[in-house]
Amino acid sequence: MNSWPTWLPLRENLRELSAYGAPQIPASAVMNTNENPYAPSEELAEAISERIKEASLHLNRYPDRDANTLRNKLATFINGLSGTNFTSENIWAANGSNEIIQSIFLAFGSGAALGFTPSYSMHPLIAKVAQVQWAVGTRAADFSLDATSAIAQIVETRPVLTFVTTPNNPTGSAVSLADLEKIAQNCDGLLIVDEAYAEFSDEISAVTLINRYPNVVVIRTMSKAFAFAGARVGYLVAHPAVVQSMFLVRLPYHLSALTQAAAEVALDFSDELLGTVATLRKDREKMRSELHNLGLVVLPSSSNFLLFSGFKQSSAQLWQRLLDRGVLIRDVGLLGYLRVTIGNEAENKKFIESLTACLGEEQ
Ligand SMILES: *Cc1c(COP(=O)(O)O)cnc(C)c1O
Repeated sequence: MNSWPTWLPLRENLRELSAYGAPQIPASAVMNTNENPYAPSEELAEAISERIKEASLHLNRYPDRDANTLRNKLATFINGLSGTNFTSENIWAANGSNEIIQSIFLAFGSGAALGFTPSYSMHPLIAKVAQVQWAVGTRAADFSLDATSAIAQIVETRPVLTFVTTPNNPTGSAVSLADLEKIAQNCDGLLIVDEAYAEFSDEISAVTLINRYPNVVVIRTMSKAFAFAGARVGYLVAHPAVVQSMFLVRLPYHLSALTQAAAEVALDFSDELLGTVATLRKDREKMRSELHNLGLVVLPSSSNFLLFSGFKQSSAQLWQRLLDRGVLIRDVGLLGYLRVTIGNEAENKKFIESLTACLGEEQ
């Protein structure tokens, strides 16, 4: 932990923190942050470069502060996926969905925010930085989220914001649309549905609830299935009043002209970018059975990662041993579990081979 100089007027609630983030360590198989392992095509890279060149000729000027073109394109994209009828007024875009989450806390964090642990660790962390009170809710022993239990916890806590991540990170399972609807009906504040991995799941998106339940806010990202993590683009889909609230807390010109240009081109290539989802889903099921055959316990997953347990050494030990063999996966801080992102064919093979060797050393 940091010991901060006494002259530094750092906020009291930040003094105990250390900077958080997944280790960025060179490895031959990078399977720790749930990225899509498949890089953009040469053709897409060319198209982005061309549009960036055009945008560069105007970099003396500020970008479109409201990202209208991008928000229109995102609305069309979501309507195509979900059969909805949204316009740019239902969409807010930012530098990754993490910025979206931060803006939600800034705009609506007047009371407690509730999440169901284990889930995405950035939700409580961003809440803390934004000085929003975080209430730790619970899940069933198998990490599933039961609607009746969720509603009971909401009634007890009375949060202004309830976070449900589906499919959940780091556990992988999805909440059904019917259960989300029940939760939405029983939620006084906003129900924030983090759908970072929605494209990997068979469930219908919660965006289809927004017309009937204006308190439902859906967060999506281009970082995972969409294979565009490096560009930093996330967005939310919600009632226009929610989007208008985002205008109050965003920094002026927060989304650069270069980011907007790149994201607009990427959306024109969405078929290519989402084209690997079927492969990743198939490879996920293959890896699931391989882990099972190694005697491990693997949770069912509707995402692009697997959470597994059943090894004898500690999570930290096995994580390090895999890294020593060039395989970087994720210790999510759950005792006895590790999380692995589905990689490309070579990475998956290397992971299984290395894991087999590491488990052999346990005997
Ligand atoms: C990866 C992830 C995100 C975020 O990412 P951005 O790259 O900031 O868009 C958001 N929520 C969950 C649950 C995630 O796993």
